[in-house]
Amino acid sequence: METVYRKNDITTIEITDMDEKGQGIGRAGGFTLFVKDAVVGDTVEVKVMKTKKSYGFARLMKIIIPSPDRVEPACPIARSCGGCQLQEMSYEAELRFKENKVRNNLIRLGGFDEAFIDSIKENIVGMENPVRYRNKAQYPLGTGKDGKNVVGFYAGHTHTIIPNTDCLLGREENEIILKTILEFAEEEKIPAYNGETGKGLLRHVLIREGFQTGEIMVCLIANGKEIPNGERLCKKLKEAQPGIVSICLNTNTKLTNVIMGDTTRVLWGKETIGDRLGGIRFAISARSFYQVNPVQTEKLYAKAVEYAALTGNETVWDLYCGIGTISLFMAKKAGKVYGVEIIPEAIEDAKENAAANGITNAEFFTGKAEEVLPELMYPADVIVVDPPRKGCDEKCLATMLFMEPKRIVYVSCDSATLARDLKILCGERYVLKAWQCYDQFCRTVHCETVCLLERR
Ligand code: SAH
Repeated sequence: METVYRKNDITTIEITDMDEKGQGIGRAGGFTLFVKDAVVGDTVEVKVMKTKKSYGFARLMKIIIPSPDRVEPACPIARSCGGCQLQEMSYEAELRFKENKVRNNLIRLGGFDEAFIDSIKENIVGMENPVRYRNKAQYPLGTGKDGKNVVGFYAGHTHTIIPNTDCLLGREENEIILKTILEFAEEEKIPAYNGETGKGLLRHVLIREGFQTGEIMVCLIANGKEIPNGERLCKKLKEAQPGIVSICLNTNTKLTNVIMGDTTRVLWGKETIGDRLGGIRFAISARSFYQVNPVQTEKLYAKAVEYAALTGNETVWDLYCGIGTISLFMAKKAGKVYGVEIIPEAIEDAKENAAANGITNAEFFTGKAEEVLPELMYPADVIVVDPPRKGCDEKCLATMLFMEPKRIVYVSCDSATLARDLKILCGERYVLKAWQCYDQFCRTVHCETVCLLERR
């Protein structure tokens, strides 16, 4: 019989699947319900909130039979906060879910054969202890119901801030920093920014920590060029958290969801913080990209280097190189490395990082990969790409195909665009040889993948 649900219906369903966003999926007579916070294997009572013709969204009301994979979330605000999606699932189940998500995308969107994909898979690499792994956190500020400033995380798909100064994915050190900033803002009567009116000053707090060095950077993102009594704030922060070596102010006066603006200046201390990965020292400035999970990143980069199979003479291109992390890992084993990155500050960092580590065979270019690569086209033995979620530009892929490196190592944080790009690369001259997932973003639905492609 056909089942049709309407708004406010209460029903009991079994969760048999999960979507990309980590929502549970239950099906009844041709109708699909998406249930946030439900885990595969749960039988749940839900209230239907919104429906379309053959599917709808329902709220989890009661767990009738818990899934064997269900766990008590470690975080007290796991359900309301939009940061994590998989807090109610065991970590083992989470790893299975992620690997499966990547596998499905490779098959569905990449057009690869199922048996083939399974035969070249290397098992997902998880963390031993998937908490407090993030070296970077960006907290929005807003105004609470009582008119006071709050800091925390957005609830899923909204701009409502769920107050929280101690996220379990971030460092314990963050809490005192956030509390100090709230206290200072209260004392100085500095209002938080309001995204609707464009009024108010404090937009976000960005905190970064080098795990190997303990160096902390606090960057305030403000709707203005000054923080009133900024010097006093710096003093207060330093006293509260002696690990701080850099306090910056980034100005963003635009009415936008993009967190950081174009100008950053140092209020106190250094422009960068230091960290070490795989024995290489890195300096990182506020706007530069740096992998958020250093423990997993070392493993991931080691794999990328393994896939590159360097013998010491090769020329390597590292596209989307950020501060040159992968480039410098590769440079130790290659003849020459060229890095390309769009953010000028990151390229400055990359050049300094190479120099600071005595690495002389790496050269860096500021610009878009899809523009710099076709322009220079220095012959390559290996091309490494590590693009943002939207994947590689078509022109970049076409140039890579034209250049015909022996190997391509594709590092990806979005398996849908990865699959799309692999379809293009493997359509002609390349064969996918191996792929492996690395859990860089534990408790969230995001997953990192590294792939090896070889020229036919
Ligand atoms: N490989 C680096 C950075 C990866 S993140 C690391 O592991 O740390 C992706 C990087 O691509 C970011 O630094 C981002 O600024 C950069 N980027 C985004 N679009 C780009 C483009 N079109 N060309 C070059 N770099 C780009």
